[in-house]
Amino acid sequence: MLRALHQRGASEQRMEYHDKVLKCSECSQEFVFTAGEQMFFADKGFKNEPKRCKDCKAKRSQSPGPSSGTNNFQRAETKTTCSQCGKETTVPFRPTQGRPVFCRECFQQRRSMSSPA
Ligand SMILES: [Zn+2]
Ligand SMILES: [Zn+2]
Repeated sequence: MLRALHQRGASEQRMEYHDKVLKCSECSQEFVFTAGEQMFFADKGFKNEPKRCKDCKAKRSQSPGPSSGTNNFQRAETKTTCSQCGKETTVPFRPTQGRPVFCRECFQQRRSMSSPA
């Protein structure tokens, strides 16, 4: 079915792109995958359609790289709340969501607790 259609239109236009409405896999908002973007994707050989809207894409590209902005020399310390005592603390790594993070005291406490007597 699709092939028949393709053959008929082949002589008129090489490739035709139409704006396409996609749904963001992150915020499930609809966004437009424009004809221009589709051409760009095809040109680059990308097979997959974008999964995220521009907002989410921008957010994503902001978070993983500390290379942008002025807080570059500020070591990768992340402000977070201790899962045990609730005190605000900073950790030298990016805490994984859903995993407990402890302040220095609680961390030491837990370490000495779990170590065999
Ligand atoms: Zn989104
Ligand atoms: Zn604590």
